[in-house]
Amino acid sequence: MIVFENVHKTYKSGVDALRGIDFEIKDGEFVFIIGKSGSGKSTLMKCITCEEVPTEGNVYIDDFNISSMSRALVPVLRRQIGMIYQDFRLIETKTVFENIAFAGEIIGIPRKSLTQTVQLVLNIVGLKDKADAYPQELSGGEQQRVAIARAMVNNPKLIVADEPTGNLDPETSENIMAILQEINRSGSTVVVCTHDSNLVDRMKKRVIEIDAGLIARDEEDSKYEQEKKPEEKEFSGYGVENAGVAFGDDPNFEGDADYSDNFDDENYEVPAPAEFFFGETPPEVIEEAKAKAEAEAAAAAAQAEAEEAEKAEVAEETEADEEVKEEVSEAESEPAKTADIVFNDEDKKPAEEVKAEEESVSEEDEEDDKGDDWIEELSLNDIDLDIQEDDD
Ligand code: ADP
Ligand code: MG
Repeated sequence: MIVFENVHKTYKSGVDALRGIDFEIKDGEFVFIIGKSGSGKSTLMKCITCEEVPTEGNVYIDDFNISSMSRALVPVLRRQIGMIYQDFRLIETKTVFENIAFAGEIIGIPRKSLTQTVQLVLNIVGLKDKADAYPQELSGGEQQRVAIARAMVNNPKLIVADEPTGNLDPETSENIMAILQEINRSGSTVVVCTHDSNLVDRMKKRVIEIDAGLIARDEEDSKYEQEKKPEEKEFSGYGVENAGVAFGDDPNFEGDADYSDNFDDENYEVPAPAEFFFGETPPEVIEEAKAKAEAEAAAAAAQAEAEEAEKAEVAEETEADEEVKEEVSEAESEPAKTADIVFNDEDKKPAEEVKAEEESVSEEDEEDDKGDDWIEELSLNDIDLDIQEDDD
């Protein structure tokens, strides 16, 4: 189970990518996170995989608060999550088989059962004939299927995919989604983020829509269908007992607006939900948040401008009055005479303290890099493994 509790993420640059996200995803669900580019989807996904830490709020996986756990546990968490990305992230110098096996090697699956597992997942994604091919010999769709097989090799309870079809044509995208759906049917929770709303409409799954870092819609499709079709007629099958029902006809079909025939309709828009479900943010609140962000940006720009103008004015005045300038520079060059003065001057810190602070900042930066480059870290381990093999 994944729980987001009032999750905010403000990047160091000051961008508020998430502004208070609440939702709960139960084990075995298939959930789409949709939203325009820049709405915060990837940031949300990264809060699940611990690639980013929320600045406020909590993220729980199985009642375990991952937003405040020690960094040492991050690899342990990631071993239980299958991750799939838009750019596949395969190792170019390894074959399909090796790419998938590698993910199992690093968590210590014994070689013999690993070979079997790799063959199994390759079968599931329909690539058993491509085991010895290298990534650059495959189409985009095939590469993504390898990435899915790799994500499955550890039999994770949770699969997260960030724009898995972003580089693929519509037909291949459907194929990839069908595989993800199949994985979900076999028990894994699947969370997919995408901006492709056409694809999402067809899948009839729960949809959480993000707009400007807030939840604009959280629509449980099964709930939607139950509400619209309260009394289903019993359907005992086609044939002579059901004379009058032509083969292929469904007696429950009602030729009304609920029936989704939008399969090929590019202009089809999902009707606005009649009421808001738990966790949703009303559109006017989102608009307000957007307006506020714009106003804040404008105010910051105006202030910066005013400060510039003030600086220029001061410079002019100083130039005009040579005497004043001299006095100021004299005063500045005089060393501070009493402990009080130094204490009150917040800008003046002892040299050791400044140095220690700088060091801790650069350490933080390094930590961040590690978070982003975990794939590269794996490649380095890989070199070690290869050397060991040669020694044997
Ligand atoms: P999406 O995946 O929906 O396109 P993102 O989560 O990538 O959205 O981005 C949401 C907002 O956060 C955007 O304004 C983006 O520019 C900003 N953002 C994303 N990543 C970073 C980062 N590492 N540092 C600063 N700002 C970021
Ligand atoms: Mg993104």
